[in-house]
Amino acid sequence: MEKPWQDKLRQIDPYVPGEQSKDPDLIKLNANENPYPPSPAVAEVFRTFPTAQLRYYPDANSGNLRAALARHFGVGENQIFMGNGSDDVLALCFQAFFCSDKPILFPDVTYSFYPVWCSLFRVPYETVPLDADYRIRPADYARPNGGVVLPNPNAPTGIGEGLDFVEALLRCNPDSIVIIDEAYIDFGGQSCLPLLEKYENLVVVQTMSKSRSLAGLRVGYAIASPELIATLEAVKNSYNSYTMDMLTLAAATASVEDDAYFRATCAKVAATRERSQERLRALGFTVIPSLTNFILATHPRVPAQEIFTQLKARKIFVRYFHLPRVDNHLRITVGTDAEMDKLFEALTEILA
Ligand code: PMP
Repeated sequence: MEKPWQDKLRQIDPYVPGEQSKDPDLIKLNANENPYPPSPAVAEVFRTFPTAQLRYYPDANSGNLRAALARHFGVGENQIFMGNGSDDVLALCFQAFFCSDKPILFPDVTYSFYPVWCSLFRVPYETVPLDADYRIRPADYARPNGGVVLPNPNAPTGIGEGLDFVEALLRCNPDSIVIIDEAYIDFGGQSCLPLLEKYENLVVVQTMSKSRSLAGLRVGYAIASPELIATLEAVKNSYNSYTMDMLTLAAATASVEDDAYFRATCAKVAATRERSQERLRALGFTVIPSLTNFILATHPRVPAQEIFTQLKARKIFVRYFHLPRVDNHLRITVGTDAEMDKLFEALTEILA
């Protein structure tokens, strides 16, 4: 029976994240997680953390972590905003920067959380089709809008564009905030951070979930002009001042300070990605060249859904989207070389 208060509940279709599992035998290539553990310096933080400190509130300004990131990127501490994963940072950006009546713009094939935030925060939006090669054309964003948000490299295509691309986007959008979601930038893409000096309306969002193997901690950040960062801080402090906990702040700082480990891990993932793309092509897959830690591929003969199901039966999880234009594709996260060997063994059997 209908309850009398039911019409007051929020109706919303939420974002659906990649399936998680506790099965230790599973090969998990479905959520773009890093196959390697975080820096050993992170483990050391957890081993030695003075738990008596937990009775205090954490630093609401994420001081040490922001300072470490500011040094790492060569920007001011007042240019960095920390959040509980880049999903948190992006959600706050939507609330802080997309306050116009005009629709914001993002690609038709992209991170599927963007339309969900639009719906949650009642931000009007229009999607802009990728071209026939699945690429984003900056000229398509040269029209009145309430803001622009897109990932570079894009997800789930994996296509990464250079500085010229972002600059072209900024040049045709001087009146809007342009958010570049660089979740996958560290695996070979070109970051647009150098453009911050020239464009005060640019916001660069990055995460420690992928390249720093810290998806479980939840650390993301935005880098932008001090004015935009102050706006983000004001919005955050209007709903929860303490988004980052003490342990996370300490562990993430340790990760940033271990640059050698970070670079080595990213290089390993990128090398495995390159080999895996070749192996997929050798099995007949059409592969979109990726600059990320995942590969979008389609097979001309065997439907993606069938490959997905058969891999799942062999305890190998990849991602399959029921979405226009990519619905016959698999998105395969790059695992360790050993995991990829098992994937290719299974694919060879399935395609035989
Ligand atoms: N942006 C893109 C394009 C992503 O794919 C993801 C991962 N789902 C995120 C942002 C959010 O990552 P996190 O919240 O773990 O930082």
